[in-house]
Amino acid sequence: MMQLSIKRVPTVVSNHQKDEAEETARQSGGCGKNCLRSCCIPGAKLPLYAFKKENNIGNEKDVLEIENKESPIAFLDFLVLGEWEDRMQRGLFRYDVTACETKVISGEHGFIAQLNEGRHLKKRPTEFRVDKVLQPFDGNKFNFTKVGQEEVLFQFEASEDGEVQFFPKAPIDVENSPSVVAINVSPIEYGHVLLIPRILECLPQRIDHKSLLLALYMAAEAGNPHFRLGYNSLGAFATINHLHFQAYYLAVPFPIEKAPTKKITTLNDGVIISELLKYPVRGLVFGGGNTLQDLSDTVSDACICLQDNNIPYNVLISDCGKRIFILPQCYAEKQALGEVNSELLDTQVNPAVWEISGHMVLKRRKDYDESSEENAWRLLAEVSLSDERFREVNELIFEAIAGGTDVIESVAVVEDPDTKTQSFEEENTITDSSHHAMVVGTQECLVLQ
Ligand SMILES: [Zn+2]
Repeated sequence: MMQLSIKRVPTVVSNHQKDEAEETARQSGGCGKNCLRSCCIPGAKLPLYAFKKENNIGNEKDVLEIENKESPIAFLDFLVLGEWEDRMQRGLFRYDVTACETKVISGEHGFIAQLNEGRHLKKRPTEFRVDKVLQPFDGNKFNFTKVGQEEVLFQFEASEDGEVQFFPKAPIDVENSPSVVAINVSPIEYGHVLLIPRILECLPQRIDHKSLLLALYMAAEAGNPHFRLGYNSLGAFATINHLHFQAYYLAVPFPIEKAPTKKITTLNDGVIISELLKYPVRGLVFGGGNTLQDLSDTVSDACICLQDNNIPYNVLISDCGKRIFILPQCYAEKQALGEVNSELLDTQVNPAVWEISGHMVLKRRKDYDESSEENAWRLLAEVSLSDERFREVNELIFEAIAGGTDVIESVAVVEDPDTKTQSFEEENTITDSSHHAMVVGTQECLVLQ
């Protein structure tokens, strides 16, 4: 039913790379898997996209006219989609995601349902024990340096001279562990990729300032509102404990993007923090900021606070990096405590960032056929923190961001993106600034995913 309006780009710089992968495997010997570890890296080359660091939000993009001049596509889109399509033709995915049925569920919110039976097939080890969100990296478990180089689309780095540059064959600089964009072999949409910051460092799945900024740069660089990045923390359905963001193209708005918000505060650097309204999952929305870095730093502070308190969460980066949703969640914890009803459990849906944003990836035909706004809402309501817990968590976040100072404005502005109307509410509901008792995270997750 729903069709992507993004034009598929059949060919791009892939020919070099095809030959290259084979060449490298032949020459180097390595471990035979043409991986990204020391066995196979010497002499290997991968495309390199050097992006322009933008200091101001909303700069114009470099665009490239493509063949028939129908519409200009930013070069990064061109590269991601072209390379992704190439990997599809080479049969590197576990199933054909373009054959998955997708529909928009009728109703006010426009939840999207996808039937993706292929995600049943587990190939990579995805089981681990989440004792704490802070978990040391276990070198024996699967990590992304074990993927084949053919799964990597390109290296993604800041340009040294401030201009966008592209090198079809660039060596892999082991000293400065490159960040890479790779395919997700279990895609949920067209163009589903992974951004793996400083891949060779094998960082654990924890957001840090540098990595989040990289993700925002990627969103800004793509400059395409259909391209969003997402993040799942440990305990919030990250399946691999190696730092990564996901991203894909979806040509319709996510329901979460359409939900009204209520402004809580504006920070000194212009970052605006709001609260989601009329949405089944409680969450915070970050926007504004004098620079992308301001916005990124505030969001990172919030994420680090959640990590330090062992609170699982998901992040959606939308609107070309200008709007970021942080969604603390407790579904896995409830699951572990046996508090999720069996009907929901039977669906085997893992409510990670995409589901929480309103793109329900369903594994059973029955659930797809019976999908309704009510069902989507019921699942997501289980994911959300209770109102009380959400207030406690917000207090932790605001203390982390503001260093304990009172940043809550007494007048909150409610903004409805549909009507573009604003209304004023008298009293903030987030926190009583006189109450400074630290709330210790109680969500010690013991979850086998
Ligand atoms: Zn190897």
